[in-house]
Amino acid sequence: TSFEEAGLRPLLLQNIKNSGYVKPTPVQKGSIAVILAKRDLIASAVTGSGKTAAYLVPVMNILLEQGISGGSHGMVQKPEVVILAPTRELAIQIHREAYKFAYNSVLKSVLIYGGTVSSNQRSNLQAGCNILVATTGRLKDFLDRGVFDFSAVKFLILDEADRMLDMGFGPDIEKIAAHPTMPPKGIRRTCMFSATFPEEVQALAANYMEDYIFVTT
Ligand code: AMP
Repeated sequence: TSFEEAGLRPLLLQNIKNSGYVKPTPVQKGSIAVILAKRDLIASAVTGSGKTAAYLVPVMNILLEQGISGGSHGMVQKPEVVILAPTRELAIQIHREAYKFAYNSVLKSVLIYGGTVSSNQRSNLQAGCNILVATTGRLKDFLDRGVFDFSAVKFLILDEADRMLDMGFGPDIEKIAAHPTMPPKGIRRTCMFSATFPEEVQALAANYMEDYIFVTT
């Protein structure tokens, strides 16, 4: 299947083309249809496989179809997609890709990561955010320091899940996924991308996902 055959919104399709993508990679072929069908997904994917677009494309398409919730002047838009990444390098890459795909659309991606002052990141967040790209540790710091509203979340994405667990972020993922304002599994959709599937990753899936589809390439 091509990007055209996936039935994507014309603007998104245009932005994908403008990013230089001609045809979907294997993990994109597998994941885009599953996420568009609103199923939970686990994909086995390494860096360089095109895993970022494998979830950004379908998730952004769904947001564009549904229109923006909240949204009038002065209202704080709550994130509809939360993407967790182990490192700031990965979070920055994800945000860049989301930014390209969102070009000329109403969607806004906001990036938060550690190792820098958080006041700018907080004001970016308050200025409106559909897609929140965050390092797990920094998002957990935000939760510890104040109120956070996940009630509009439709998708929770765990990128490089095995690496997040290796780095000790299991409890932080738990804090976020089981936050009182976070819609429960089965209501929100959850997608996980991982290169390996040790027991800890399987436990994460068992806890936070429902009837997931496994995509391997
Ligand atoms: P990722 O695995 O998501 O980190 O992507 C690896 C690299 O491949 C990034 O530089 C992407 O911009 C690029 N890429 C992802 N999907 C495609 C595609 N369908 N066609 C061409 N390049 C792609």
